[in-house]
Amino acid sequence: MLEAKETLYKEIGIRREVLEFGHTIEHNLKECFDYIDQIAEYNQLKVIHAMQKNRVSEACFNYASGYGYDDLGRDKLEQVYADIFHTESALVRPQIACGTHALAIALSANLRPGDELLSPAGKPYDTLEEVIGIRPSNGSLAEYGVTYSQVDLLEDGTFDYENIKKAINKKTKLVTIQRSKGYQTRPSFSVQQIGELIAFVKEMNPNIICMVDNCYGEFVETIEPSDVGADMVVGSLIKNPGGGLAPIGGYIAGRQDLIDNCGYRLTSPGLGKEVGASLGVMRSFYQGLFLAPTVVAGALKGAIFAANIYEKLGYFVIPNSTESRHDIIQAVEFGIPEGVIAFCKGIQAAAPVDSYVTPEPWPMPGYDSDVIMAAGAFVQGSSIELSADGPIKPPYAVYFQGGLTWPHAKLGILMSLEYLVRDGIVNL
Ligand SMILES: *Cc1c(COP(=O)(O)O)cnc(C)c1O
Repeated sequence: MLEAKETLYKEIGIRREVLEFGHTIEHNLKECFDYIDQIAEYNQLKVIHAMQKNRVSEACFNYASGYGYDDLGRDKLEQVYADIFHTESALVRPQIACGTHALAIALSANLRPGDELLSPAGKPYDTLEEVIGIRPSNGSLAEYGVTYSQVDLLEDGTFDYENIKKAINKKTKLVTIQRSKGYQTRPSFSVQQIGELIAFVKEMNPNIICMVDNCYGEFVETIEPSDVGADMVVGSLIKNPGGGLAPIGGYIAGRQDLIDNCGYRLTSPGLGKEVGASLGVMRSFYQGLFLAPTVVAGALKGAIFAANIYEKLGYFVIPNSTESRHDIIQAVEFGIPEGVIAFCKGIQAAAPVDSYVTPEPWPMPGYDSDVIMAAGAFVQGSSIELSADGPIKPPYAVYFQGGLTWPHAKLGILMSLEYLVRDGIVNL
């Protein structure tokens, strides 16, 4: 068996030295992977328990069209999400186009003219700048008279409580906290850290709504931000909770009144959650959610494997090889453009889809440098599937995430190393 496996790695294009180096690294990660499996086991039970409690049945997968009144599969799935996140309610819909849309709904549904939005954890995700109006944009919250204030993190990446206290005023209605660092260099926050921040805000004013951008964080830990006081948690179904099967969608889970408002914003005042047919995607939503805990575990193993490989080779990796993980994103700094390019070519070459395509750096709207992207995904843009991208500018870092299975994540990273060796950038 082992021999057959090695032969196949060779046929796929991984040289013996790369494979051996990878296996030495993997061997030392047994305990760490064990821990990840324990978390996955817990979260798997949590998901199954919620599905059983809500008596999920075959009828939930039926096709619903038109207005979607009494769409059984949709309504039950929302209850399953609410139970997993331990919230009163949830909105889980294919009509939510992506994570940004889910966040925009949660914000615009619960803020009114004259209210202030506060980000106590520094700059939010790029796409939210236009939602909020940090960068002028048609239809932004700013256009509707919602003001915004921001408190940056301290130099060590922790919350600046003193200035957060100063920033909270009578107008402060909603606080937004982003769990994952996204494509910034700050650390991602643990659920516990987020809980401490929420407790601080609530102590100043218990009426302030605390929302968490949960993108890339779901099922990485055994608790979610809603377990530590968040009034709303928000995410994308083509990331963690869709388990790679959801072809579209987003979710918002939280307090009943807030989620009702989100329903009114998504569809229409008066109609709310009552309409919005699920159009046959329910089976993939349920099955994806069912798979999500182990899919996230595979992606996490891939991120840790890569951190250990590239740290051992002398590169700066964020998070580092031993840090605890709060999302599935891994960054590696190569210091030279050729490193970023070779890495992305390797990830692409290891994909099940479009493996024969060669990614090249390209100008992208919204970026001030060329960007190279590698993805061979079943769902377009899905970043729970193994994908990588890097802007071609200093410090020449590549960001990557995902992998629906650990063996695929492993192959992708071995292939990235193979390309770096092939191009003479790394010597083993
Ligand atoms: C991906 C992401 C978003 C936006 O999601 P899209 O689906 O790309 O619109 C927002 N916040 C964070 C932290 C993300 O990772």
